[in-house]
Amino acid sequence: MKKIGIVLLIIIILPIGFLIFNEIGKLSETEKVLEETYNNQLQTILFSVNQYSDDILNSWANKVNELNEDDQLLKNFINENLAIKSIFLLNDEKIESAKFIFDEKLISSSDSIKSVVKSILVSNKDLISRLAEYQKAGYRKLEPLQVNNVSDLAVVVFSKQNDNKVYTITGFVINPQEFVRKILLPRLQQISQENFIILVRDNENRFIVSSNNTNYSGQVEFEKQMWLIPHYKIGIVLTGETIQDLIRNRATNNMILIAILLLVLIAAVIFVYRAVKKELELAQLKADFVSNVSHELRTPLALISMFAETLELDRVKNDEKKKEYYSIISQEANRLGRIVNSILNFAKMEAGKRKFNFESINLNDVVENIYQTYSYHLQNKGFKFEKQLTENLPEVNADAEAISEAIINLIDNAVKYSADLKEVTLKTISTGNGVIVEVTDKGIGISPEDQKKVFDKFFRVSSGLIHNVKGTGIGLSLVKQIIEAHKGTIELVSEPGKGSTFRIILPIDLNN
Ligand code: ADP
Repeated sequence: MKKIGIVLLIIIILPIGFLIFNEIGKLSETEKVLEETYNNQLQTILFSVNQYSDDILNSWANKVNELNEDDQLLKNFINENLAIKSIFLLNDEKIESAKFIFDEKLISSSDSIKSVVKSILVSNKDLISRLAEYQKAGYRKLEPLQVNNVSDLAVVVFSKQNDNKVYTITGFVINPQEFVRKILLPRLQQISQENFIILVRDNENRFIVSSNNTNYSGQVEFEKQMWLIPHYKIGIVLTGETIQDLIRNRATNNMILIAILLLVLIAAVIFVYRAVKKELELAQLKADFVSNVSHELRTPLALISMFAETLELDRVKNDEKKKEYYSIISQEANRLGRIVNSILNFAKMEAGKRKFNFESINLNDVVENIYQTYSYHLQNKGFKFEKQLTENLPEVNADAEAISEAIINLIDNAVKYSADLKEVTLKTISTGNGVIVEVTDKGIGISPEDQKKVFDKFFRVSSGLIHNVKGTGIGLSLVKQIIEAHKGTIELVSEPGKGSTFRIILPIDLNN
């Protein structure tokens, strides 16, 4: 059994354990990949927002190019776009003479805007000349200008694409807050989903707009500068569960699953181990049974053939001796018959083929009958054989022959497992709703742990005095099966060295 245990451990638990640890390792790897993928996705979202503002400004630039320096058309264009404060045209070499176009409503603040933008243009001179180079090369590029200390406007310039040599550069003066609110926000609301909100704010946190229009809660997971409005940032705030939470929950769930799997496996292994153990024990018991039965059969056969031969050869002259030999032969033949009968009955019982002939009977009669038949035999063997019958015993519905067989089996055992104190008592008792038949001996008794097993088929106590007592191990299991077929129970009270009492309890026959 130990070997089987070890084998089970090696072929099941070890590989599974290895697999589980491997799986745990893989899990954390997968989670890392997952986190990276997720982060990449968030970054992509920010990228796409930037790309979107870039597209918008590019489309404006196209439009302005098309309008071809027509003041009135440019004015109209500004008027349509609240996010544009002004459009200006300039030559990279003459920043001071830049031409500004304003819509009517901003005319009042136009001078201050002009001076601010001009100073910004001056401080970005290098960039302006680079754009002029691009213009010469024939391609257009949008560039934001660094606007130090000014947060309520943004300036984006691009190289003009026409042959006009007066102006080489065009620019937008943008109201960034309007741009974010009117142009970006609808887009942000489109992109953002349940799990995150997109946030746009200026560097000083004086202006904050979020895609769900509420005060955002939670920490900003990623934040990127806006390409064209560099003093503004776009960020992502995870709402609800963060990816770490998700991963942690997933890992915990996986661990719980693995733990349950492991427990189920361990339970299965224990179950298999127990089943195998039981089967092996039963196989062992069966092997013992075969050898026990052969032994049981061989002894009476040997005696019968020995005495029969002796008689046949007429070697016994003394009549009394002859009578004794005949009686031994008949006794042993009886014993053989009993053994064969009980094996047949046992086989029938096992196959569920045994039929009982139920009728109302008085157990006193059954016990009395058995007593009469066996008292001579038992007394001959030196037993004190007693009966204590309760009068007016209620009748029970039973098969008299089967019940006799059960009681005889118990008496047989009482005789077999008695040592020096040879006493067997039969008793009938009425309990009101049942009738008890007790068989008591003062024999070797049964230890508490074996008391549970003696009714199992093929089981024989394998230690102590009874080593030399013959038996098949099916007697008590047969008794139990008979009693249970009668809806009765069998109890055992025993103390090693003091003796045993087997108690058959049958329900009284209510039809009587
Ligand atoms: P067996 O053919 O071995 O007697 P049983 O099924 O009748 O088979 O009994 C099972 C075992 O229970 C016996 O081997 C014996 O160890 C124990 N046993 C049964 N009856 C008694 C008893 N009266 N006293 C002590 N041990 C008993």
